[in-house]
Formats: sequence, C-alpha cells, structure tokens
Amino acid sequence: MEYTNIYLAKVGELTLKGGNIKDFERRLVQNVQLYLESIKSRVTLRAGRMYVECNKEGCPAVEFTLSHLIGITGWAKARISEKNIESIKKACMEEAKIAVQKGCKSFKIESRRSEKSFPLNSYEISCEAAQDIFDSGMMKVDVHNPDVIINVEVREKCFVYSNTEKGCRGLPVGSSNRGLLLLSGGIDSPVAGYRMMRRGMKIDCCYFHAYPYTSEEAKQKVIDLGKQIGKYGIETNINIIPFTEVQMRIKKLASEIPMADEHYSTESYSTLLLRMCMMKCANLVARRIRANCIITGESLGQVASQTLENMSVTESCAELPLLRPLVGMDKEEITETSKFIGTYETSILPYEDCCVLFSPKHPVLKAPLGTAQKLYEELKVDELIQKAFEEREIVKFLVRDYVEENFSE
Ligand code: ATP
Ligand code: MG
Repeated sequence: MEYTNIYLAKVGELTLKGGNIKDFERRLVQNVQLYLESIKSRVTLRAGRMYVECNKEGCPAVEFTLSHLIGITGWAKARISEKNIESIKKACMEEAKIAVQKGCKSFKIESRRSEKSFPLNSYEISCEAAQDIFDSGMMKVDVHNPDVIINVEVREKCFVYSNTEKGCRGLPVGSSNRGLLLLSGGIDSPVAGYRMMRRGMKIDCCYFHAYPYTSEEAKQKVIDLGKQIGKYGIETNINIIPFTEVQMRIKKLASEIPMADEHYSTESYSTLLLRMCMMKCANLVARRIRANCIITGESLGQVASQTLENMSVTESCAELPLLRPLVGMDKEEITETSKFIGTYETSILPYEDCCVLFSPKHPVLKAPLGTAQKLYEELKVDELIQKAFEEREIVKFLVRDYVEENFSE
C-alpha cells in the first residue's frame, strides 16, 4: 500500500548499545505499532532512522505518537522527492516558502548522502539547493544561527524536511525492567515515573487513598496524572489502595503511646509511619505485578520526611530496590520536566493527597531507625495492610486505546 505522508524519526541512544541494538530497535518499532494499532500506517527502521508512513487522516495520531514515544531524539514530517537534484531543489523551495510564511528570515541547508551513488556530494547538494532560495531573495543564508534549517537526506529515497521536533530520548519502554511508582497528587512523583520510563522501564502506579479524609477529587487527580504519564508508556495500571483504616490506626497509636522518645511525641512520627506502611503495602503490589523495583518522587531535603535519616527509615521497609530518580534534583528542574510532560497543570490543582488531620505539627526530622521500627511494630498493622492491598481498585490505561478513541480515522 502506498501512503501519502511520511515522518522521519532519529533513533536515540540505541546507537550506543552495541550488541543489544537489534533488541532495542525491535522494541521501538513494536512500541510505535502498538500506539498506532488502530491507524493505517507502516513503520520501518533503517540505518538509525525510523520511518512512519500514513495517510492524511492518520497524521494527528502519528504526531501524537512521535511526540510521546520514548527512544527517539527528534522527528519531522518529510517530503519525498525524486532522486535528482532538480526535484530536491523544488522540494527545498517548497519548504522555504512555508518557512517565510512563518516569519523566517534566514536559512541553512543541511544535506546528508548515505546513497553514495548519487552524483553530488552533500556539500554540493546543499549549495545547489540553497542557490534558488538565495537568488529569489526570500531569505538570506546564515550557517551559524539560521531561523530555519532545511534538511536533505539522500537515502534509498530523498527526504526533505525542516521543523524538526525534539523527541523524548531515552530507551524504548519495555527494554528494561518493570517498576512500581508510588504516585501521589504532587508535582514530583509523575516526573519520577517518566524519568524511569525513559530508562526503558514499564511503570505501574500505586496511590494510597484515605477517603473521606482525602477527597474523591484527589483520587481523580491521581488517576489523571497516571493516565498522562501513561501516554509515554504502553500499558499503565493505576492501583488505588484504600488506606483510611491504616491511617486511623496510626492516629490511634499516638493516643496509646503519647511519647515516642524523650524528644518526640508519637504523633511526630505519624507521617513517617504512614510512609512505612505505604512501603509495606507497595511490596505486596510489586510482588503481584512482578515489578523489580519501587520508585518514589522523593528529593533530598525537600520536606521533613525527606531527610536522609527519614528516607532510610522508609527504605528499610522496601523489599525491592528503591529508586528515587529525583533525589538530587531541585524543584525548578522537576517543575520544568512536569511542564514538558503535561502533568504540571493537574499537579497544582488544590486537592490535597494527604489530610491536615493526619499531618503532625512537629514532624520528626532525623528519626532513629530503631524508634521508628519499634513504633511500627506497635501498630500491629500487617493485617490491615494486607486487607487494603486486597481491596485495591485497578484503573487500566492502554495508550493504543487512547489513540483509537482520540485520533481514529
Ligand atoms: P509528590 O510531589 O510526588 O507528591 P512530595 O514532594 O509531596 O511528592 P511527599 O509527600 O513527602 O513528597 O511524598 C514523597 C513520595 O512518597 C512521593 O513522591 C510519592 O512517591 C510517595 N507518596 C506520598 N504520598 C503518597 C500517596 N498518597 N500515595 C502514593 N504514594 C505517595
Ligand atoms: Mg505529595
């Protein structure tokens, strides 16, 4: 079948991966095919370039896919020209006209020739193609800082394109292990999930919900966040775990044992105890979904529960490696990524993921592991955690369904 439109994507880090490159490439192509299952299209990969062909109706779906696909460094919609310099010049002129309409005043042609039988070398192609545009006076040449770069690639066919979009980079999702992301309603954890997806991980999410102390809106917000990062994955399940009873149990302990040690009340430990309970429950979910690690959005020193001492306490409850991709990042960097991946606007909605009723006035800053573990033992909460796990609700998000529902031809 002949398609009328073609997109070129530059395959990312795969070039670094020596022996595994074939697996990664196969995974990347497979992922695009999954995104586009409901769209008439063809995906091919050749020499570091991926080609996605479709008809006009399929373009929005393909553009959605390429702007969410992990594993490519950039992409562009291309024109196919015949393999002779006259056709290439004509195609470049068409691109130049569009650029001028968009307000570009300077240009540069960048050519690549992997088909060595073509009579001109890449320098000559660039010169030839630039001449007409230059002569017409529509734009001036600027090789250092042009408003638009028009690319010419002479391969088994000739491609001409400008307007390259940045890709998500990283390794294709599914090429490394599976991770369980502790997803809350804040700015950080969705970014943490995205960062691990970019290392090739498949992510499932887990949210601890304490209705009615945390609202239905807070839950919906987390589901929306999970679906938003799901656009970068293939299949993303969001586990919602009813944690009210566990929270009540922690609150009750504070009245049973008022002082944790000579300095701090048991209430001061309540956030930390809650994190410990979350981690214990996350172990159960992780085991069920065969995850190889647990991921959080913690960043050193950001809030009281994220001192190194307190993070060590939480970590002591994890049965799997605990990954904190944001640990060394500041809020500004994290916020930037959250805007890029489209979670920021949802994250800043006011619905809180924890209730002031359960937030201690003076949280412990450097909890001794022994004290925290002793209090945890006193909770006798394992059964409640098991029950919460069993009563979890699972929201599935499949990116191919999303594409079908939103971009169907
Ligand atoms: P975020 O912006 O991700 O909410 P935060 O800066 O608010 O993070 P904390 O509230 O201390 O930080 O939470 C630290 C991490 O613990 C979160 O990034 C998340 O991974 C996990 N977490 C916290 N609350 C929940 C919850 N209710 N359900 C699931 N995970 C949670
Ligand atoms: Mg939070």
